[in-house]
Amino acid sequence: MHMKCSLVTGGSRGIGRAICIKLAEMGYYVLVNYRSNATAAEETLALVRAGGGDGELLPFDVSDKDNVQRVLGNWMEANKIPIEVLVNNAGIKDDALMLYMKDEQWEKVIHNNLDSFFYVTRLVLNGMLHNRYGRIINVVSLSGQKGLAGQTNYSAAKAGLIGATKALAQEVGRHGITVNAVAPGLIRTDMTEGMDEDKMKALIPVKRFGLPGEVAHAVGFLASPDASYITAEVVSVNGGLY
Ligand code: NAP
Repeated sequence: MHMKCSLVTGGSRGIGRAICIKLAEMGYYVLVNYRSNATAAEETLALVRAGGGDGELLPFDVSDKDNVQRVLGNWMEANKIPIEVLVNNAGIKDDALMLYMKDEQWEKVIHNNLDSFFYVTRLVLNGMLHNRYGRIINVVSLSGQKGLAGQTNYSAAKAGLIGATKALAQEVGRHGITVNAVAPGLIRTDMTEGMDEDKMKALIPVKRFGLPGEVAHAVGFLASPDASYITAEVVSVNGGLY
């Protein structure tokens, strides 16, 4: 087992997959979390290994407190290896105008994007504090910075996560742990599948959607040991869209 270990939630597809590959390139053993898409997660792990890295699959539902505790808690207990880098990337959206938004839509999006941060991070934090080193990177969204119509649930969850990022950074800064967020704009993944890129790119200063690897680049930068004086920051990766 490698000494340097990282955990990427939602590593099976899209931005999370690119982050897994980036961290593996940086020499990290990668725990690839996902919820249900085992085939995609296996592909991520194969790409990690093809690049000379290594890791393992660790499926759990980040929105389920007991499931997080059981699976991640057991892994940590069994392996006794500190997780140096945690990327809270797993997320979902379920858009509707507020007037038509159902209770389940509100609750599901808050559980998956915000509560998940609390459940996963508090488990990993203990080892980081003990180790006096850690990098926590939360994948938020432009939607949480400016608010987007049809996304009151998602904007609230991501804005909440930005607040939590800044607060936790202040709690753990003295212990060698940085906590930052990366805020993507429109990135080509399953989440943006079906959007009319040709129409929407007119609104984006660089005139295209971003690629998962371009978000992973910012995550890799914040995850690096050299980024030790950057904390409580939100780095936008949005092609100038605001
Ligand atoms: P995606 O392609 O839809 O992939 C979502 C990933 O999250 C999958 O790996 C999925 O696992 C996992 N996931 C979802 N709910 C989960 C849960 N409860 N427990 C564990 N894993 C879960 O999404 P993406 O576009 O890469 O988005 C990644 C992050 O970037 C999200 O936080 C999203 O809000 C944020 N973001 C994306 C964009 C964009 O334009 N794409 C823009 C701004 C922010 P399965 O494969 O098992 O389903």
